[in-house]
Parts: sequence; C-alpha cells; structure tokens
Amino acid sequence: MTESYDLVVVGAGPGGSATAYHAARAGLRVLLLDRQEFPRDKPCGDGLMPHAASEVALMGLADWLEEPHHGKFSGFTFYTPSARLRQGVPPTLHGPHGYVARREETDARFLERAISAGAEFRSGVRATGLRRSAAGDVTGVEAVRGGEEAVFAAPLVVAADGVGGFAGDGLKAHQNAVARRQYFTNVDGPDRQDLHVFISRDLNRNGAGYGWVFYFGNGSANVGAGVSTRTLEKTGRNLKDYFDRFLEEPQLTAWLEDARPEGPPKSWSLKMGMWGAKRYARGLLMVGDAASMIHPISGEGVGYALESGRLAASWAHEAHVRQDFSASVLSGYGKQLMRHRAREHLSGHAMLNIVPNLSLLEPLFKACERDPEARQTLIESFTGDTPVYSLLKHPRTLAHAIKDAAGNRQKA
Ligand SMILES: Cc1cc2nc3c(=O)[nH]c(=O)nc-3n(C[C@H](O)[C@H](O)[C@H](O)COP(=O)(O)OP(=O)(O)OC[C@H]3O[C@@H](n4cnc5c(N)ncnc54)[C@H](O)[C@@H]3O)c2cc1C
Repeated sequence: MTESYDLVVVGAGPGGSATAYHAARAGLRVLLLDRQEFPRDKPCGDGLMPHAASEVALMGLADWLEEPHHGKFSGFTFYTPSARLRQGVPPTLHGPHGYVARREETDARFLERAISAGAEFRSGVRATGLRRSAAGDVTGVEAVRGGEEAVFAAPLVVAADGVGGFAGDGLKAHQNAVARRQYFTNVDGPDRQDLHVFISRDLNRNGAGYGWVFYFGNGSANVGAGVSTRTLEKTGRNLKDYFDRFLEEPQLTAWLEDARPEGPPKSWSLKMGMWGAKRYARGLLMVGDAASMIHPISGEGVGYALESGRLAASWAHEAHVRQDFSASVLSGYGKQLMRHRAREHLSGHAMLNIVPNLSLLEPLFKACERDPEARQTLIESFTGDTPVYSLLKHPRTLAHAIKDAAGNRQKA
C-alpha cells in the first residue's frame, strides 16, 4: 500500500532533521527517511560555529549545547609555517561562542527534535528515486527497505541525502574536497577554548587544505585534515597519506605524545561553495550538502544544512498552502538561499581558485598577524560572517601581503 504525506524528506542528517522539524511544526504531515539506523556516526570536525549554534537553539536545543562534555570555543588559533594568529570569535549577531559536539550525538538530538515535533521517521529505508506523473509532477519517493520495494507518496520531496545522489537528474554538483578525522583522548595542546587550525606546508603546497584540532569538554579532541580533490589529482597522493603526514607535524606529535586514538580514522567527501548545484526543481528542494551548502574556506556545513532545512521547510509550507509545487514557486527558496549566503560562499570559492597555495596565502596571514582589524576580518571570512572581499577594507595590509607574495614568487 502506498503511504501518503505532505512532504517526504530523504536523509536524517542535520539538513533533513531541521527540514522535518520546522515543517512538522508548521503543520505539515512529514515523513523523514534514512538508509541508516540511528544513532549513527558521520565523519566530521564536529565544530559548530556561532551561526550554527543559533540554528541549534532554534530547534530547542540551546541547553543541550551547554552540556559540559561538549567543547565550547571562544576563539581561533591559526598556524602557518611562519605566522600564528589568535583571535576571539567575531562579535557578530550570533553570540561569542561556538561548540564542538560529536555528530553521533548531535544528529540523534536533531532527529529526536524532528520526531517530537510530529515528523514520522523510518530508518533502514534507502530512497532510490523520485516518482513523477506523466505530466512531470512529483508524486513521491521510491525506496527499498529490508529488500522490499516501497513507495511513499507526496507532492513535494526534500533531498537531504548529503553527498548521496538519490534525486539524480544531474542536480548535484560534484564533490570537490575530502577530509579525514580521528578521535583522540588525552590530547595535550594549549588554549582548549580555541579551535586550532593548521595551514601546513604539506597540505597547501598544491592547493588549499588545512588540519585541525578541536577540543571537547573532557580532554579528548577531534583531529583531522582536509584537502581539495584537485590537490589529490595533481599529486597522485591520497587523503590517508595527507592525514598521516599531518599527524607527523612537530606540533601535532608533541600534542599527541600521550594521546590514545579512540578508534580508527574515518574519511568522507565534501561539496563546497554553492557552485554548480541546483537547489530546487518542480516538486523538489535540496538542502545541506545535497545543495553544496558547505563553506568553501572553512569546510563547515552543519549550520548551513540546518539553515537551508529551516528555509526549505518554510517554502514547503508555502507551496502546500498554495497547492502549487512548481519550480516557479520553489525558486523562492533558491533565491532566498542565494541572498543569505552567496556572497560569502561564492567569493570564498573564487578566492581559493585565485589564491590556491601557500606562497600567496602565507603573506596574507603574516600581514594580518600585525593588523588586529584585518585579522578579525580574516577570521570572519573563515566563520562565514563576512565575504572574503571585506579584506579590501584593509588596503595597507593587503598591499603588504601582495608585495611579500610577489617577492616570494620571484625567489621561487
Ligand atoms: C571530515 C569532515 C569534517 C567536517 N567538519 C565540519 C565541522 O567541523 N563543522 C561543520 O559544520 N561541518 C563540517 N563538515 C561538513 C559536515 O559534515 C556536512 O556539511 C554535514 O554533515 C551536512 O549535513 P547534511 O544533513 O546535508 O548531510 P549528512 O550529514 O551527510 O546526512 C545525510 C543523510 O542522508 C542519508 N542518506 C543518503 N542517501 C540516502 C538515501 N538514498 N536514502 C535514504 N537516506 C539517505 C545518510 O544516511 C545520512 O544520514 C565536515 C565534513 C567532513 C567530511
């Protein structure tokens, strides 16, 4: 028998659970599907920027964020081969803190909120395609559960399946980065109230990448590294190799001397920068990684998944009220996301393509080390609070960086 809903959401990561939570609260009959059983792990740095924390609070989880086993950060330390930048969390509208919380726990909490808001959840269900009428309207989702085929009927579907590709139709952009992380207990580095970001020579020689140490509240930490897929293509090296070399950086060996791994490292891919992905079609909305909503500089995607889910839910409600699921109505969602996020994401994407390696990036960090205002702008462009071209507000510092970069190029 075909079961019928107002909205089917495919994928119960942050994007899908946020969509289901907000849509159910708005009164829609929502079905949320995931191919996995929960709680489940998702390889991630586990960092929640302040804007992400605001979205978490909007889902009624502000108190949960404050639980002491989570990391709570109030600043950043960036390390390049010759510069060390420390900066507090930018004083934006989103408050002075971010958090570090394991995705296994975080995603289970988001899912609980969606269910308590009234969404129906089915695990172990893999969506295999969209079902459309002869006229092209979406009529539901085809799926497989326990080896059996199933159909869930709805006039509107949200694809929140991350880097999966269930909706097909050339809607998704390709992955453009990969990252790997491992949990360690007893990590012994300084300034646990900061997120530590390493722009190392090895990770940046042939493109952009960084390593990180993000502390939890109990002394363990998420340690990871990410590089662009272009870097892998250029070098013929693999992510495991980059990650292993990152752990051999002198600072890391010192911090990890007495640390114990909590399990094996895990890798995943990312689609960053809003570039090349469609975010809507007739009867279909895409959120989170499925819509390439990962910040191209920081690699941060949880906050954008939550935000795009919240916006998608409001457009799902609008379409439901109008009983009009056309691309023209749903384009409002695409436009709204562009208005909110395109400046930061697209300019970051452009910068990484124009300034793709350390000989150019390092002088920028060095120049910002000496200029607190430019440093704050640099950090805001990492946290997604300002577009990277805001650095133009600091012409003297930029001029220094460009002069040094030109000198480096001549020497090279
Ligand atoms: C190593 C690494 C480090 C990162 N660090 C950070 C960080 O510190 N902070 C941050 O904000 N972001 C970080 N990110 C990015 C972040 O993990 C993603 O942006 C985030 O998970 C996106 O959420 P989502 O809901 O869109 O997708 P996902 O979390 O990937 O969830 C998708 C869900 O869809 C389900 N699914 C897939 N296909 C199907 C199907 N056919 N049928 C049914 N279900 C399906 C999956 O089982 C999964 O549960 C990192 C990414 C990586 C790889």
